[in-house]
Amino acid sequence: MNARFLPPHKNLYRAHPELVLNLCSCVAVMAIVAIVTFLLMRERASVEQSAARSASNIAQLIDTDIERNVELYDLSLQGLIWAVQRPELLSVPVPLRQQVLFNQAFTAPVRGDILWLDKDGNVVADSSSAIPRTANFADTKVFQGHRDNADLGMVISPPFKARLGGLDWCISFSRRIDGPNGEFAGVAAGALRLGYFSELFERLDIGRDSSVNLMNTDGVLLARHPTYKNDPLIGGNFANKPNFQRVLAEGDGSFTSKSSLDGKHRLYTFSRVSDLPLVVVVALSTDDVYSSWRRTALVVSVATSLLCIAILWLTLALGRELRRRHSAEQNLAELAATDSLTGLANRRQLDQVLRREWSRAQRNSRPLAVLMVDVDHFKAFNERHGHAGGDVVLRQVAAAISRSIRRPADLAARYGGEEFLVVLPETELKGAQTLSERIRSSIEALPPFGQDSQPVTVSIGIGLHEPGVHEDLAAVLGDADEALYRAKANGRNRTEV
Ligand code: GH3
Ligand code: MG
Ligand code: MG
Repeated sequence: MNARFLPPHKNLYRAHPELVLNLCSCVAVMAIVAIVTFLLMRERASVEQSAARSASNIAQLIDTDIERNVELYDLSLQGLIWAVQRPELLSVPVPLRQQVLFNQAFTAPVRGDILWLDKDGNVVADSSSAIPRTANFADTKVFQGHRDNADLGMVISPPFKARLGGLDWCISFSRRIDGPNGEFAGVAAGALRLGYFSELFERLDIGRDSSVNLMNTDGVLLARHPTYKNDPLIGGNFANKPNFQRVLAEGDGSFTSKSSLDGKHRLYTFSRVSDLPLVVVVALSTDDVYSSWRRTALVVSVATSLLCIAILWLTLALGRELRRRHSAEQNLAELAATDSLTGLANRRQLDQVLRREWSRAQRNSRPLAVLMVDVDHFKAFNERHGHAGGDVVLRQVAAAISRSIRRPADLAARYGGEEFLVVLPETELKGAQTLSERIRSSIEALPPFGQDSQPVTVSIGIGLHEPGVHEDLAAVLGDADEALYRAKANGRNRTEV
């Protein structure tokens, strides 16, 4: 069927079913991918959140422990200072004095020792032995700080290797001892072995590639777990590392970042130890944190990809099937509308087109012409050449008619037997006559068939509808029939109106 006779499509799906199908499945695939991505990212965020929460709990516990320890040390120092400032202390026998000066509960050797230094930095009394070990601390920054400034309060030192006892890493807590008139009279100092923190951290199970760290606010690493013997990192300065600067700026919280030590990504959760210059940093390896999420994400992504591929494949298959059906339908429609002998429109399509063009002509008050074409003396031709010869000529006549019409809206159809009808919308008498003459002459110009001396000819009757003249289509066809009859009567091979 000619495309011009298809009704205009109302909706997009009927006009472009394959396009709509492809669009829909693309949208579906994108929606699936978006939903799965959203869910996975949300799951990832919640994994990170719960890891940060448990790391934060660890940091808080450590905070509390350290805070209590520092408090106890400070109480011991204050007790020492109180005792040192008693004038009657000098009259107390040495063993008793040792008991009065040092609170034994807080000075277990695992933690460290407490010293009383005089104003020149010499050890006057020592919690770990009744006879004080000889040493001088006048050269230390902490001692000099207290000597030069009365208002330092308790000072927590950077880590150092202990001079007395085992050569362990320690930090010290110290306070200034004032004389009766507020002059500098010495320093009370307690050392805390950093090993104490490592032992505290050791009880935590935080996974491979993760660590718990204690740092001071100057960026010096004080303790760390997991740790190695003589860990070179202890005492190391991280003040310039961007991660430490962020920790210091934010105080409490967590973030994920690349480690400056090994380049691996870690989730850093950190907490400031009350108002002390200490920070606990729990660094969890993101490989550990996300390992189970990664497995889930992999399985879900593979399943989703397979699903999307299946949808796209089905869409392609469905599209192919739609195309196949569409072309089959088109072929069927063409077959149903075509005359099999001549290839022109058949009677069925002619009726449809006639009805439609008639209504259009009525509606728009436009003219409509029909040509009724009949082959002359065809019965005799059939008798001379047989039906097969007749069919050949019918095909030639149909082709000649088809060639003669030019406008897209014109239609040539086989009306029946050796009669043809040409529908000419928007055509006045003059145009119809011109076309009729063109058809007639082009058929007359065909070469004579077989041994015939004369060519095949046709007679044509024109039925013309002019606005307001005819009431119905049958009348127009009747006029064309009548005109054809006259053409036959007037000698054939001619046109009558
Ligand atoms: P006229 O000039 O008056 O039209 O004479 P005619 O012989 O053409 O008159 P008529 O209409 O009576 O004859 C039509 C003949 O056309 C009858 C039939 O033998 C022949 N015919 C009709 N359909 C076909 C067809 O499909 N194939 C062939 N070969 N002949 C057909
Ligand atoms: Mg006839
Ligand atoms: Mg005839």
